[in-house]
Amino acid sequence: MALFPCDSHGARYTGSQQTVYPALLSATATERAKMRLCPACFGQALDYAMLHLEEVGVTEEKPQTCCSVCEAPDPGTAVFLTVYGHRSERRDFYGRLCEGCVPHARDVFLGPKDENLRLVA
Ligand SMILES: [Zn+2]
Ligand SMILES: [Zn+2]
Repeated sequence: MALFPCDSHGARYTGSQQTVYPALLSATATERAKMRLCPACFGQALDYAMLHLEEVGVTEEKPQTCCSVCEAPDPGTAVFLTVYGHRSERRDFYGRLCEGCVPHARDVFLGPKDENLRLVA
């Protein structure tokens, strides 16, 4: 079996490779990525999405005027996550985040920015 480094925590892993496509969009910046994740990091991203985000086609579509995490008004960042799980259908999630909630979402979906935080394979 091939070994892949996880795009989030950087170490190689065994097991099925699962892919997420996160995007964070604000008035000033757009961050998009394709992340091939180990089962643990994939689980973290999916848990976050199930807890905080709306699933397209499942939850009732309603205008989002508050932060999806802390309910602060007028969140400035939109978050989209497309998930391709092992042997499961594509799922799409979306939400809106205030400034204070963006860093955590970025950690979960895009991995730690600081290279020093990455585990050595
Ligand atoms: Zn990982
Ligand atoms: Zn918030």
